[in-house]
Amino acid sequence: MSANAAYIHVPFCVHKCGYCDFTVIAGRDDLADAYLEALELELKSELREPHPVETLFIGGGTPTQLAVAQLTRLLELLATWLPLRNGGEFSVEANPTGLTPEKMNVLYEGGVNRVSLGVQSFQQQELKVLERDHNPDDVTRVVAELKSAGLTNVAIDLIYAIPGQSLEHWKENIAATVALNPTHVSTYGLTFERGTKFWSRLQHGDLSRADDELERSMYAWAMDELPRQGFGQYELSNYALPGRECRHNRVYWNAEPYFGFGPGAAAFDGTKRTTRHRSTTTWIRNTLAGQPTLSDEETLTSEVRAREAVMLGLRQTAGISLSDYESTHGHSVRDLNPVCYDQFLEMEWLAQSNGHVQLTREGRFVADTVMSEFLV
Ligand code: SF4
Repeated sequence: MSANAAYIHVPFCVHKCGYCDFTVIAGRDDLADAYLEALELELKSELREPHPVETLFIGGGTPTQLAVAQLTRLLELLATWLPLRNGGEFSVEANPTGLTPEKMNVLYEGGVNRVSLGVQSFQQQELKVLERDHNPDDVTRVVAELKSAGLTNVAIDLIYAIPGQSLEHWKENIAATVALNPTHVSTYGLTFERGTKFWSRLQHGDLSRADDELERSMYAWAMDELPRQGFGQYELSNYALPGRECRHNRVYWNAEPYFGFGPGAAAFDGTKRTTRHRSTTTWIRNTLAGQPTLSDEETLTSEVRAREAVMLGLRQTAGISLSDYESTHGHSVRDLNPVCYDQFLEMEWLAQSNGHVQLTREGRFVADTVMSEFLV
C-alpha cells in the first residue's frame, strides 16, 4: 500500500476519563516498552522499507505519557520508517499534565511541528465532571512553555455541552482559548457513547445531557465568535488561522489513503479499510508473536465510497465540488437521494454555489440528519 499520511496510536493514559471512547489503557505504563517493541515490528513488517510521508499524526491515549527515553525511541522509529518530507506536518496529541519542558524538547528535536492540546475546559468544575486531571492554570503555563520550546503551532481542543455547563462558561472557555493565541481550535459537543462510564451514569440518572437548545447556542457561539477572532471554520468542529488547517485530518475528510499503526489504529488504501485490535494487550501479544493484528477489514464498494464521500465532503465548509464528485463517482451527489437533496436545498440546509454543494449555517446544526440521508 502507498499513502502520504500516517497515524500512530499511543494508548497510554493515567486514568480513563468517564466519557472516553478511544483505545486507551489506563495505569499500565509498565507496558510501554513492550508497546514500542511491537510497534517497531509492525512498522518493519508492514512497510519493509522507509516510506516518506507528508503528514504524521501521533494520537492517543496520551502520547506524552511515555517517559522521555520512550518518547525519544518512538520519534526515532518514526524518523526511520516514516520520515517526514520537507514541509510536512507532524502533529502530536498531548495533555497538559505531565507534559514537561524536557518532553517538549524531545518533541521539537524529533521534528514535531504541531501540538494538539487536550484542554477541554478552563473551568475547574467542568474539568472535574470530565474527570480530567489538569487545572486551568496548567494550560496557560504549558502553552507558554511549548512556545519557548519552539513549538509555536499549538492547537487547542475544547468540549461543550458538559453536564452543568452554562453558556456563559462556554463563552469564557472560548475567550480563554483565544487569549492563548493558538493556531487552531476544535470544539466537540460531549457525546455519551455506549460502553463508557458516562453512558451508564446517564442510564442510571446520575448524569444528564445538556439541553438541546443550550447545546445549539453553544455551537452557534463557537461558529460566530471564533471567526470573529480570525479562526475560519473549515469543518463542522474545526477552526484555524489562515493556512493552519490540519492537513492530516484533511486526508481523512478527502478519503485519501493513510497508514495506521498501533492498537485500534485504522488504515485506508483507497478501497480497503482495516482496523487493528483495540485491546492493547492483545495487539502487543499478537504483534510480538508475529500473529495478525487486524480485527476488522472492509473493502468498500464503489457505492459505499460514493456515499461516504458525501458525508466527509459535507463536514468541510467548502463542501463538495460537483464536477469532481461526478468525475470520480460517475454520478451526481443528487442521484444518491434526489428527494432529500431537493428538500434540503429548499429548506436551506444545503446550498449550491460556485459549483459546490455545502451545508448552510442552519444545516450544520442538523448535519447528522442531512448526512444520514446520503448514507443509506
Ligand atoms: S485523556 Fe483523552 S484519551 Fe485519555 S482517557 Fe481521557 S479522554 Fe481518553
